[in-house]
Amino acid sequence: MERDTNLAEVAKLNFDVENIRKDFPILNRSIKGKPLVYLDNAATTQKPKSVIERTSTYYLNENSNIHRGVHTLSQLATEYYENSRSIIKKFLNASSNEEIIFTRGTTESINLIANTFGRKFIKEGDEIIISHMEHHSNIVPWQILCEERGAILKVAPINEHGELLIDEFERLITSKTKLVSLIHASNTLGTINLIKKITEISHSHGIPVLVDGAQAVSHIPIDMQDLDCDFYAFSGHKVYGPTGIGVLFGKKNLLDELPPYQGGGDMIRSVTFEKTTYNDLPFKFEAGTPNIVGAIGLGEALSYVSKVGVETIALYEQELLNYATKVLSEINELKIIGTALEKTSIISFVLKDIHPHDVGTILDNEGIAVRTGHHCTQPLMKRFNIPATTRASFAFYNTKKEIDMLSEAIKKVIKVFS
Ligand code: PMP
Repeated sequence: MERDTNLAEVAKLNFDVENIRKDFPILNRSIKGKPLVYLDNAATTQKPKSVIERTSTYYLNENSNIHRGVHTLSQLATEYYENSRSIIKKFLNASSNEEIIFTRGTTESINLIANTFGRKFIKEGDEIIISHMEHHSNIVPWQILCEERGAILKVAPINEHGELLIDEFERLITSKTKLVSLIHASNTLGTINLIKKITEISHSHGIPVLVDGAQAVSHIPIDMQDLDCDFYAFSGHKVYGPTGIGVLFGKKNLLDELPPYQGGGDMIRSVTFEKTTYNDLPFKFEAGTPNIVGAIGLGEALSYVSKVGVETIALYEQELLNYATKVLSEINELKIIGTALEKTSIISFVLKDIHPHDVGTILDNEGIAVRTGHHCTQPLMKRFNIPATTRASFAFYNTKKEIDMLSEAIKKVIKVFS
C-alpha cells in the first residue's frame, strides 16, 4: 500500500530531530558495541532529561506525603501532585480536574471501570462489546466480569488490513449492550480507530464508551470533549513519563454514580465502624498513598510533549511511518501485518518462516531494539494466522537513518537464514 508523504509539511515544522535527541540521554549509549537504535517505543518510551531531573529533584528536595500534612514539604508535594492533574486535564481537554484519576497505568484504569461500573451496572445476560484487535488488558478484565455476572462478551471483527468493521460493530449492539470498550490505536497493527464515530453510534443507543488510549496519547492529539467518550485510559510510561503511573479520565456525572474501587486512606470523607462516607472526585478513586513522584513526572512529560507540539510529533512520525513502510516493503521476504489507512508509527512484520525471536536476537546484536512475540494480542495473532510478529515502533526521536539501519539489519537476518 502506498502511503502519502508529508515531506513539505515536515520541512515547514521547524522540527530538528538532532536537537530533540539531545533531550534523551539514553539514546547516546551503545548496545553490543553498536549505537542504540531504539524502536520499541510501543512497549515503553525513553525519558527526556526534564522528566529525569524533575523526579530526581523531588526525591532530593521535596519528598513528602500529600494531602494530610500541614508542614511545608507536604503542602508543596500536594501542590505539585495536583498541578500535574491540571496539566493532564489541559492535555486531554477534559472539563475539570475531577475527571482525572491517577492509576498505575492503562491496565489498572480499565480494571477500575470493570470493577466499579461492572459491579453497579452489569447483570446476567448483559453484553459488553470489544474488538478483535484489543490488548489483553482490554479483554481479560471483561472476561472476569462476564464470568462473575453471567454477562456476554462480544467481539467486533476487523478486515485483512486490520481495520475495524464499523457496520459489523453496530450490528452487535442490542438492547442488552451496557458498555463498549475499544482500543484507540492498536499496539500491534498501528490501526487508529474512529473513536468519535464509534462514540456517536454507541451514544445513539445510550451506551457508554471506554477507550484504551495507551498507544494513542503519545502519537495523536487527544481531546476528550471532541471524542466525547465516557472513559479514557492511558499509561505514563508510553508518553515519555515514568512507569507505575497512569490516568483514567471519566465524565464526572458517570464517575459520581460509580461505587469506589479500593478502600483505604484518602478515598474517605469520614469513617466509623458503622458507616463510611466517601470523598469527592477524584479522590474517591485514589485509595492509599499514590505514586506521587510518578504523577509529578508524568506532568513534566506531558509539558515536554506539549512544548514540542503534539501536531508536530504526529506529522513527523507519519513521515517516519511512510518512509519505513516504503523501505521495508521493498524487502521481498517481508510482509507487513497491519496496513490500515489510518495508522500510528508502528510496523509489525513477518519474515517468511523465520521466527520473530530469531529476528529480534539478530537485530539486538546490531544494537537495534524491537519487540517480538504476540504483543499481548493473542486473539489478533490467531486472526492473522501467525504465532508472532516483529514490531518496530517509532517515536519522534527516531530518524530515517535508523530506519535504514533496521532495513539493512533485516537483510542480514534473511541472509543468515537463507
Ligand atoms: N493497551 C495497549 C494498547 C497497550 O499497548 C498496553 C501496553 N502494551 C496496555 C494496554 C497496557 O498498558 P500498561 O501495561 O502500561 O498498563
